[in-house]
Amino acid sequence: MILEIIKYPDPFLKTHAARVESVDDSVRKLIDDMIETMYYARGIGLASVQVGDPRQVVVLDVPDEDENERAKGKNLMALVNPEIVSTEGETLYEEGCLSVPGVTADVERAARVKVRALDRDGKPFEIEADGLLAIALQHELDHLSGVLFIDRLSRLKRELVKRKYKKSLETEERAI
Ligand SMILES: [Zn+2]
Repeated sequence: MILEIIKYPDPFLKTHAARVESVDDSVRKLIDDMIETMYYARGIGLASVQVGDPRQVVVLDVPDEDENERAKGKNLMALVNPEIVSTEGETLYEEGCLSVPGVTADVERAARVKVRALDRDGKPFEIEADGLLAIALQHELDHLSGVLFIDRLSRLKRELVKRKYKKSLETEERAI
């Protein structure tokens, strides 16, 4: 089932998601719906908070850097109760977000991360990532704490991006 993606400035995006006590069928259904929604929206990652669910779930399918055409499903992963174990280095990347459509901005992140989570069967696993996957993991985990990429910008830059976003929303309304 394709879910509705909540758009900024909906206050639900500030939700601190709760840890999943047991990975049961209802969590697996949420994972499947989120995967379907992510592909439908042509995203590379999606967090539960973005579809109005307060449980700690993230799905990702980040293309390899040498991939021109995205191989759908190749790097697909679902993370329940994900947490960052360690970070290393710094990187700057132009990020966008399905909940803040139409705008992008350079965001500073750690260059490498180690993340611990449960898979769809409730089994713990660890992933070490760099490149775009490391950025996407940090972006999606932020969503579970109610943080958007625009919250990580300087005040001045954030105001600029917000103004641009508001303008694009108005244009969209006129177009309908
Ligand atoms: Zn996002």
